[in-house]
Amino acid sequence: MTDLDSFAARLKTLTGGRASTPRVKDGVMTLALEVGGLTADQRDAIAAAIREGALTVPGVSDVRIAMTAERKELRIIAVGSGKGGVGKSTLSANLAVALKRLGHRVGLVDADIYGPSQARLMASEDQKPQARDKHLIPVQSPVGVPMLSMAHLVELGRALAWRGPMVSNALGQLIDAEWGDVETLIVDMPPGTGDIQLSMIQKHKPAGVVIVSTPQDLALIDATRAVNLFEQAHVPLIGLVENMAGYACPHCGEISDPFGAGGAEAAAKEMGMAFLGRIPLAIDIRRRSDAGDPPAAGDDVHGQAFRAIAEKVAEYVAR
Ligand code: ADP
Repeated sequence: MTDLDSFAARLKTLTGGRASTPRVKDGVMTLALEVGGLTADQRDAIAAAIREGALTVPGVSDVRIAMTAERKELRIIAVGSGKGGVGKSTLSANLAVALKRLGHRVGLVDADIYGPSQARLMASEDQKPQARDKHLIPVQSPVGVPMLSMAHLVELGRALAWRGPMVSNALGQLIDAEWGDVETLIVDMPPGTGDIQLSMIQKHKPAGVVIVSTPQDLALIDATRAVNLFEQAHVPLIGLVENMAGYACPHCGEISDPFGAGGAEAAAKEMGMAFLGRIPLAIDIRRRSDAGDPPAAGDDVHGQAFRAIAEKVAEYVAR
């Protein structure tokens, strides 16, 4: 019997059979712990005992415990756009991080099958979700937001060849995962307004949607299509976010508006929906996003911009 096997056997007694089989990779032990029906104190005591025991297993230097509870209704907040490339994924990731920092129990699903980017944005590319009782167990991002992306399930590029029903099944698995104590799930939708989006909305019934657009007219026309799609499916519109609004020259600081200014706010007004705020086009946002370090995790000017939007979404949720 290996040290890990004997620890796994001890775990059973220690947790009353609530823990999954532990795995160890690169010195990190991961396991899922079913916490349904336990008080917070009981849960913490069991987790502390597991940690203590796990660190005595040779080769283990860190422990990650994914707590899972009986399944309950999740509040899904969809983030949609009329087309790709407007910053929908960037906003989804930063909205999740900002909401978490505001004290919400948030999870993140990357349903953008055409270009799943959340694993990179949230620095969880090297993780593979485990499954229990046919349900996926989300991976933990370094900022503490549990998440699942198509990129965690399939090799990049392969998803493109999928047909509608396969996509729909895979998306269903991401959303119906073991989200534990997560209450609000941010879903980064596939861009566009086709059948995949419509069937996903009808099946999973988001509590509301945030629409992202850049300020130029063409993007706004696409955004209007997205708004129509969600309206048609009776999903409440939380509001519109203008991304890539105004560009601050990194050399002289002059602000220019490569895509026009104020278009999204005016469009939101016309469509009778709330305007949630604007995020500037900033090299730092792109750099940090590529590096898996979401700006919303910090308090600089961009972190504050994402936070302000998250506060409005939180207000909506509270209502
Ligand atoms: P979508 O999900 O709509 O396809 P992404 O979020 O993937 O769009 O963004 C597309 C590209 O634009 C990415 O490289 C991203 O880092 C960059 N980007 C998004 N928003 C901003 C911004 N406000 N400033 C600078 N770059 C941005």
